[in-house]
Amino acid sequence: MHTASRSRVLFGAGTVRRVREEAERLGAFRVLLLSDGSPALRKDTERLREDLGDLVAAEFDGAAMHTPVEVTERVLELVRDQGVDCLVAIGGGSTTGLSKALAVRTDLPQLIVPTTYAGSEVTPVLGETVDGRKTTRSSPAILPETVVYDVELTLGLPVTASVTSGVNALAHAVEALYSPDADPVTDAMALEAVAAIARALPAVHDDPSDVEARAELLQAAWLAGVCLGAVGMGLHHKLCHTLGGTFGLPHAETHTVVLPHAMAYNAPAAPEAMERIARALGVDDAPTGVFDLIHRVGGPTSLRDLGMTEADLDHAAELATAQPYPNPRELTRAGIADLLRDAWQGNRPA
Ligand code: NAD
Repeated sequence: MHTASRSRVLFGAGTVRRVREEAERLGAFRVLLLSDGSPALRKDTERLREDLGDLVAAEFDGAAMHTPVEVTERVLELVRDQGVDCLVAIGGGSTTGLSKALAVRTDLPQLIVPTTYAGSEVTPVLGETVDGRKTTRSSPAILPETVVYDVELTLGLPVTASVTSGVNALAHAVEALYSPDADPVTDAMALEAVAAIARALPAVHDDPSDVEARAELLQAAWLAGVCLGAVGMGLHHKLCHTLGGTFGLPHAETHTVVLPHAMAYNAPAAPEAMERIARALGVDDAPTGVFDLIHRVGGPTSLRDLGMTEADLDHAAELATAQPYPNPRELTRAGIADLLRDAWQGNRPA
């Protein structure tokens, strides 16, 4: 069974100029403009504010990673005090997360202008953190109504962040291919995303101003995000969720380190998916192919370098195997502990 998403998506260069028109299409009169206050996005945010003009009723520029509920609750007061009728968010997955957290509590329409490759803007999934514990929920009210992808907004994303965010997208596509919910539509989107990321990541690494490569990567992120929203994810996402939520490791970097190892763990139980991924990557073996791609573009390869301590590895393995969830290969605490040790040391998967 495949259920198509009901998001409206604009994709191109210069599309951010159409945000006002799109907000009006959603019936907006009193917009709350959301961002994370990053200096790198200040100019784009200012231009967007000017374009929105008198539609802007309020602004909040403090979106934070892993969507802390205390931030959401503070912004909810602003939403109520200012009679906000539409949310417009510009930024990466963290800013999108805040918009979704507000939407699920208010049912306000959302218009997202993504500036990374996280893909959250096309999923009905929200991860939130309370007291250092990250929980995830899914609901139709969480899925943004409109997404405006503008490749020009991604040109300033630094190479390292582009690499890790691109691998975050790759992880959605990889796990979609061995998901028990996979169908021919998600398979086609996921394989196209894998092939496009394998082409575009080295090109963006070599020339971050290459608009065509940036567009290919952004489009792949869109496809991969749709896969993430359509089918359940497995071991890789669960592990990254634990490492980010409980151990405070950075989201996209953690995905980048863990992906080849989670793939190597699952490979014996998902040979067909791995073969298709390898073909899309243009390599013989999918897990080492992904590791080599990350190495080629200078991405992080070890959890130790991300600040994880060796002493936390066993606890992480325990947490990640505490509750059963669908995954091609049976999850054992010893197996996951070995996987994490390899990822911590930065070994190339065998
Ligand atoms: P992010 O939004 O935290 O952004 C990372 C950094 O990059 C920030 O400092 C930001 O200001 C900066 N940045 C963003 N775009 C930029 C640009 N174009 N130029 C320069 N700097 C820029 O990181 P992310 O990886 O996009 O998102 C991570 C968050 O998204 C996590 O909380 C994760 O759980 C969530 N996420 C959710 C889903 C979902 O479906 N629910 C999917 C993917 C990620």
